[in-house]
Amino acid sequence: MRKRTLYMETMGCQMNVLDSELVVGQLTSGDYALTDDMTTADVVLINTCSVRDHAENKVLSRLGALKKPKLNNPGMIVGIIGCMAERDPDGLVDKMPHVDLICGPGELNKIPAMIEDARELRQRSIALSQSLSRKSTPIERALEFDSVEALDLSRAAGIVGNPIQAYVRVQRGCDKFCTFCVVPFTRGPERSRPPGQIVDEAKMLVDRGALEITLLGQTVNSYINQDDGQRVPFSELLARLNDINGLERIRFVTSYPGDFGDDILMAMRDLPKVCEYLHLPAQSGSDPVLKRMRRQYSVSEYVELVARAREFVPGLTLASDFIVGFCGETDEEFARTVQLVRDTRFKNIFVFKYSERPNTVAEKRAVDDVADAVKRVRNIELLSVQERISLATNRELIGRTVEILVEGYSKRAMKAQEAEQTRGEEISSEISSQLVGRTRTDRIVVFSGEIGLAGRLINVRIAGATALTLHGEIVERREGERLPGTIPIGVNIGG
Ligand code: SF4
Repeated sequence: MRKRTLYMETMGCQMNVLDSELVVGQLTSGDYALTDDMTTADVVLINTCSVRDHAENKVLSRLGALKKPKLNNPGMIVGIIGCMAERDPDGLVDKMPHVDLICGPGELNKIPAMIEDARELRQRSIALSQSLSRKSTPIERALEFDSVEALDLSRAAGIVGNPIQAYVRVQRGCDKFCTFCVVPFTRGPERSRPPGQIVDEAKMLVDRGALEITLLGQTVNSYINQDDGQRVPFSELLARLNDINGLERIRFVTSYPGDFGDDILMAMRDLPKVCEYLHLPAQSGSDPVLKRMRRQYSVSEYVELVARAREFVPGLTLASDFIVGFCGETDEEFARTVQLVRDTRFKNIFVFKYSERPNTVAEKRAVDDVADAVKRVRNIELLSVQERISLATNRELIGRTVEILVEGYSKRAMKAQEAEQTRGEEISSEISSQLVGRTRTDRIVVFSGEIGLAGRLINVRIAGATALTLHGEIVERREGERLPGTIPIGVNIGG
């Protein structure tokens, strides 16, 4: 029997990437095969992001492009899943009546049944989590049965994506309610998964070939659960994962600066598999702006945390997020953000122009009064300050040897191979065989090598650097013991 075809498109954060992987896993372990042709697929699912206006407009434009294929093939099921589905189901239906399925991020385990309902009953199928309660404490909530757990537990049903690096969710939702953010409304209250389930899932992924696990949570460091009546905070979860044989690296994103205990820094220092990298969104370098954003820390607390983290974890690199042009942000307030970026010397930063999100506190109580042109200028300025820092810190690595996990062909090599195949263009083998790997500190290294190295930990000497990428040469493959003359794992200088 012909398998039905599924087209899945994912926008937004790593959490969405994992959600899509799990949904695809559920469907392809049944009657579905993946296709990359949206116009002829039996089922089209778009996993959406609501964090910015721009991301939602992109979804609407993709949906618009599906009107004609749906007209030609009325049996096609068009589904919107993820944050935008949860945030504005009525608006979606008004604008895009050809949508058959609307499913929030807390209900994704229901998608196989929802597709069947939409097909058989010929009516729109909707599943949202708007009734999730925030009344109990995070630990009480963590102990409640959460039916969406079934989605993560379904992972055993199928293998999807790159087996070397895998995401594992440790927590859902967020309780912080930063005034600009829509996530607490779309992903619900904070709930931490049981530690035993997380460890079992990580073991299963390692058995399938994973060497690196990235733990996902909106405020991952506030993870808290219980086991046999004993509290299991995030540092203890890291320790349990560190004991998994065959696992080489553990990363985690995203950390909330206000909750970051020294126990986690000690775990990063003492557990050899936990990588020396932190994504620690600051959002602003101005206290009044942080207050208006309802971030629960001050600039000096953030700076102290960074100093403590660097003291505990030698060679640590840091990445951060910033919003420019938040309600009422003055030139002086923005200048403090620039100063924080200059002083902290992040590895890289993500900068976003503030965009008002419906129903957030900022939308209800503040005025989006910074002109778009000003936001644009601030965005460019902050990025260019960081670019100079990234270039300088990357150049400090030239001549050093670092350990990388080889991920596969670089993007450039993949494009070159495609051009060779589709247009017969002649490409030098140096470009078409270029590989990419990542240091423990999350720096990207490109180098020449055989594709058989994918999934291996090797040592490379850094020969060149741009702000975004390091260029390396293979020193020697890592087989158990490290070579003399190489620097210890993770001690990448700079950052
Ligand atoms: S911590 Fe703030 S910015 Fe991050 S997800 Fe929660 S509400 Fe949003």
